[in-house]
Amino acid sequence: MINDLNSRGIYIHIPFCRAKCGYCDFYSVPLADTDWLEKYTRGLAVEIEQRASFYDGKPIRTIYLGGGTPSLLTPTQIEKLLTKLDQFFPLDSDIEVTMEANPINIGQHYLHDCHQAGINRLSLGIQSFNDRELRLLGRLHSAGDSEEAILAARAAGFSNINLDLIYGIPGQTTEDWIFNLSRAVQADPQHLSLYLLQLEPHTPMGRRVDQDQLTMLEDEQEYQLYQISRELLAEKGYHHYEISNFARPGRECQHNLLYWQSCEYLGLGAGAVSFMNRVRYRNTVDLDRYLGACADYPGGFWQGEILEEMDERQRWVDAVLLGLRTTQGINMADFQRRFGVDLSQEYAELLNELLAGGFINIKDGYLHLAPSAYFISNQVLYRFIA
Ligand code: SF4
Repeated sequence: MINDLNSRGIYIHIPFCRAKCGYCDFYSVPLADTDWLEKYTRGLAVEIEQRASFYDGKPIRTIYLGGGTPSLLTPTQIEKLLTKLDQFFPLDSDIEVTMEANPINIGQHYLHDCHQAGINRLSLGIQSFNDRELRLLGRLHSAGDSEEAILAARAAGFSNINLDLIYGIPGQTTEDWIFNLSRAVQADPQHLSLYLLQLEPHTPMGRRVDQDQLTMLEDEQEYQLYQISRELLAEKGYHHYEISNFARPGRECQHNLLYWQSCEYLGLGAGAVSFMNRVRYRNTVDLDRYLGACADYPGGFWQGEILEEMDERQRWVDAVLLGLRTTQGINMADFQRRFGVDLSQEYAELLNELLAGGFINIKDGYLHLAPSAYFISNQVLYRFIA
């Protein structure tokens, strides 16, 4: 867990991909020309300077390069960004610096140079070790590429590696999923993120489901895959610390823990979201406008589109929803010190009802979801807003 809740994280969005995956709802565009990467890196460097000019000096614990596909950047571009951040922001000496990478076109030499540039945690978008599933998802890589990328990452010096996997892929059997998980565990990563495939109707895969060309798994099947994952990974020594995340002890993702502990963060780059002073806001997703804003901005107060301005109550309710995603849950005494709210009083009736239903537990001063409620966490968490 994060000890200093004043710490912040910086997220940098790299909104380019080689091609769009069939299930993807993230903000990313196909990279038409590599010149864009250079232009975009220059834009980010300007944004870093501008945002730093009115930064309040709180320590930065984590940097996360997400996307899109950050591994399209060259090591030189990555180094430029990290050097700029170091120059303009108070980075912790043991800062966690994660980069998401696609397991294609990333050889040992490339990864070594990224590591030298300052990336110390690598998150590989493996998604599946089954080529049929990868093709269905519209991924450009194969299972063989993933195996090679993991070996290359190790050889390049990475000792903190996450693998992303997707479960609930149409046609996926229990055996298919156990095979994927087992291959992942054999690779011995420090961290695993398991995401249930959820399709927005406007994505190519979502449209195929709407047109009955693809059939999603039944809820019960998805639940079984989730339960199998929890059991198998516990057996292999992974700590289930958040609904979708598992880690070797001490290798939890610090950046995501900042989110779940409701700390503030700066989002840099087109489409990036920031959360500061109870305001959640997003930079423009229009690349030309983003680069124009970087070039023209006079400095002072950078504010993108406001997504949410929270009052005091919304702020602490948000912290409840995020904190309950962690399996450790919320330390109620700490929560009261931080937000001035006694959860046992504020939610007296709801807590009794959820306790009686077996959806939550309260133990040693911590309020947390019962393991049987992890898979239906959204429904349970919704009760804290309603
Ligand atoms: S690589 Fe990731 S961000 Fe890019 S299209 Fe695929 S899922 Fe979306």
